[in-house]
Amino acid sequence: MDGPAAKLTDYSAGITAIDADYVRPKLAASHLIVEEGRAAFVDTGTTHSLPNLLGALEVKGIARENVDWVLATHVHLDHAGGAGALMRELPNARCAVHPRGARHLAEPSKLIEGSIAVYGEARYRQLYGEIVAVEGTRLHVAEDGERIALGARTFELIHTPGHALHHYCVIDIDNDRIFSGDTFGISYRDFDVWGREFIFPTTTPVHFDPEALCASIDRLMSYEPEAIYLTHFGEVRDLERLAGEMKVRVRAFADLGQLYAGRADRSVKLRRGMYAMLSHWLDGHGFPADPGERHRLLDDDIELNCQGIEVWLDRSKA
Ligand SMILES: [Zn+2]
Repeated sequence: MDGPAAKLTDYSAGITAIDADYVRPKLAASHLIVEEGRAAFVDTGTTHSLPNLLGALEVKGIARENVDWVLATHVHLDHAGGAGALMRELPNARCAVHPRGARHLAEPSKLIEGSIAVYGEARYRQLYGEIVAVEGTRLHVAEDGERIALGARTFELIHTPGHALHHYCVIDIDNDRIFSGDTFGISYRDFDVWGREFIFPTTTPVHFDPEALCASIDRLMSYEPEAIYLTHFGEVRDLERLAGEMKVRVRAFADLGQLYAGRADRSVKLRRGMYAMLSHWLDGHGFPADPGERHRLLDDDIELNCQGIEVWLDRSKA
């Protein structure tokens, strides 16, 4: 299989994961939801992801005019960096965003600055390219618990702080599914062992809050979903187990941070400790004990997670 179809993973209920081609294959997804010939995207990847998203519409036979929604779960650039470029191609779409994220999509300069601070200028350019603003009049500010429609299908948008204060999740009410952005963590398919999923939290700067994140996970589970769709990466179904593991691991990361909080070598200790912790969980999961492969799959997330935990430690201290 080649061409745009090669970037797609089809699930049931008209849901497809599109590989955003961010960093490596199947690291970040945009989800396309099709209902009676109308469509919505959940998260957009970066500006570089645009050809894959438009290719998915072509494969599914959906005209660009028939896309009603671009649902940006939060404004981190691997989720919404491509929103402006995508909106230019979708004449009838509205872009739903958390009240705290709206101004960043309309005026992305602060977002760009923040990301350059995390990644450095060169890597930032390579990862994100040019960021296009979303016209203010096309933004839809999503209040907590608000319902929107895609044809006959209803989505409830709920605010889920913990990963980011500007984060919401999309509850697909009629199908018992949830699009969780980063709130339900990361589950790369690379870590599947005999179809069993491995999950861990993403604690990216600058809003990580462990207790808020655990409360948000409980709120997602209160809808008794059948499947959850993670931006990193795609559908997971073993939800009772995964929700339990997520909460244990959020608190384990926070405890690890507190263990090293007062030390001059905090940053180094934290990064080593997080790798050891993830590696221990992977041992229990039955994943091959190949340090090279584990580092390849985990090091970028460990770096981001540790930066986020350090920001949280400094904020708790202040
Ligand atoms: Zn994020």
